[in-house]
Amino acid sequence: MAQTNPVRSLLIVGGGTAGWMAATWLAGRLARQNIQITVVESPDIRTVGVGEATVPAIRDYFRDIGVTEAEVMAATQGTVKLGIEFRDWKREGDSFFHPFGLYGMPSRGVAFHQFWLKRRAEGDATPLAAYSLCTQLAMANQMMDPPVSPPNDLGVFNWAVHFDAGLYAQFLRRKATSELGVTHVDGTVVEVSKHPETGFLTGVTLKEGRVLEADLFIDCSGFRSLLLGQQLGVGYEDWTHLLPCDRAVAMPCERDGPLTPYTRSTALAAGWQWRIPLQHRVGNGYVYSSRHISDDEATATLISRLEGRALAEPNLLRFQTGHRHRFWEKNCIALGLAAGFMEPLESTSIVLVQSGVERLGALFPTLDFDPALADEYNRITTLEYERIRDFLLLHYFANRREGEAMWDQVRQVTLPEPLVHKMRMFASRGTMVRYEWESFHDPSWLSMYAGFEITPRAYDPMADYFTKPELDSAFSRMRAAITRARALAMSHEAFLSSLKA
Ligand code: FAD
Repeated sequence: MAQTNPVRSLLIVGGGTAGWMAATWLAGRLARQNIQITVVESPDIRTVGVGEATVPAIRDYFRDIGVTEAEVMAATQGTVKLGIEFRDWKREGDSFFHPFGLYGMPSRGVAFHQFWLKRRAEGDATPLAAYSLCTQLAMANQMMDPPVSPPNDLGVFNWAVHFDAGLYAQFLRRKATSELGVTHVDGTVVEVSKHPETGFLTGVTLKEGRVLEADLFIDCSGFRSLLLGQQLGVGYEDWTHLLPCDRAVAMPCERDGPLTPYTRSTALAAGWQWRIPLQHRVGNGYVYSSRHISDDEATATLISRLEGRALAEPNLLRFQTGHRHRFWEKNCIALGLAAGFMEPLESTSIVLVQSGVERLGALFPTLDFDPALADEYNRITTLEYERIRDFLLLHYFANRREGEAMWDQVRQVTLPEPLVHKMRMFASRGTMVRYEWESFHDPSWLSMYAGFEITPRAYDPMADYFTKPELDSAFSRMRAAITRARALAMSHEAFLSSLKA
């Protein structure tokens, strides 16, 4: 069957992380389909410029576009991210780690944490983190290349990167324009034209009068959502009543101390502070609720907490947590901030760009624009956003910072039903509920439950298969395996140097 009505031209409005990630990925996938891809980027409108932490899926994106981690890290002052340390979230002085890796090993179809719960019930206080190689490496500022030769079953873990978002967009732009035939136009879109009957987008006019026409449009214009929001009038689902933070102030500084292979998130009175170590600087920001602290106070707090000399003026960002009601409308798909935004607590924006563009690849339209494709795209993307929202909600809801207005408020939030069910099942006997299109899997949820000391009333009776001596011996073997694996690891800095070699 011959393909009729293929898309011949694609215009991406916006040259931030989203625009260049979409252009690079699509240009590779569509390389033999004779589709002209253009990115128009305003020289007058800045990119957001933050967005330095990722999740392990980013490495699949690198593979897809044909670059190595070493190349990306060299181009972007990148470092390793093995997970996130959460400080003061449960209460002040307390800390736990969300690793990109497993806890222990399942046995006879029973998840490891069930045996751990059984042993806890019997009085063993060893923390769950003792059975996560990834956590142990991170806390010791160590790294090893896990997929090449895992030293044992526990050696299976994943990692992501921290990078300078501006350098990352430049890196992708070079690749897209010099190797993949993407056209780059410098210009500000001032007008958008639509078909008089269908309302489909037909072209954009730039400030200097040039017109760019296309069959398919990708809106990567950032928070202003120029095409999907402003032109096609797609409304916004606001989740501020669930996740109260709506502003951030960002400010990089010099590093004072070792190069840690993880992001740190520290809870503060009206939100939380990120610390993201790069090779040349440390990224810092205070994400806060403007109903609970003023911009000036938040900025002063951040400045007072910098570990080294500030390297830029404070950068204030406002946002509304939520997403567009539809991500794909007519012949336009929004990616990145134009599609929606959830605060960067688990670094989920860039991965949403990645999954969005991959989904577009899987549902790529012809000029008929069968509405079924857009409906499916919107269905899945909405689920993906909702599942991430619920994971973030758990971070807030489970806090025990009593007597602080914002933290007291978030403990009173009415949680969405899927999250209530998930937590109920865990509270019953540690059962993990998995939904469709979840970005965070059991070990991630487990790290939160354990970190916030949410303990089930019982454990799975199947865990009683093993006797206490059998479990004693298995658990001490696991800890020994982690110690052996750690002895093979190198320092984070040595790992980065080995990538350069
Ligand atoms: P932008 O960076 O805003 O780019 C928009 C582009 O559109 C620009 O090139 C601009 O010039 C162009 N444009 C706008 N209007 C026009 C016009 N009229 N004509 C032509 N061009 C136009 N994500 C993570 O994954 N990890 C993180 O750690 C993380 N931290 C964050 C912290 C904060 C405080 C915020 C606000 C966001 C964070 N993000 C993070 C999100 C991440 O920064 C964005 O998802 C990502 O950078 C994509 O942004 P974007 O390309 O959609 O938008």
